[in-house]
Amino acid sequence: MKFEATKTDIRALVGLARKNTTAPSLPRPLLERYRWLVAAGRSPAIVPIERGICSGCHVRLPTMLEHQASYALALYTCPHCRRLLYAPGLVDEEPRPPAAKAPRREATPSAGKRA
Ligand SMILES: [Zn+2]
Repeated sequence: MKFEATKTDIRALVGLARKNTTAPSLPRPLLERYRWLVAAGRSPAIVPIERGICSGCHVRLPTMLEHQASYALALYTCPHCRRLLYAPGLVDEEPRPPAAKAPRREATPSAGKRA
């Protein structure tokens, strides 16, 4: 299972899990899931994936999940302990200079284009 989440959401949840402060403005499904986990005694309810292992229950995650989490920023559910999982690499990553990834696609009409 996967929850759509932005970096800000994930960071807010991690902060929430650490400090147990009042909930910041988080998407409702995330917050509900988080509270459900806390109520179920799964604290911390949100944990990073560490080398393919859920750092909540220390069980190896399915390769598919690990792979997905490594490139698509979202929150995933550990199939074993149901905690929310995130890839720390995607959340803590330093913002890259925009030039690195922006494809240079100019609106120049190419010769191959049919009119
Ligand atoms: Zn787990």
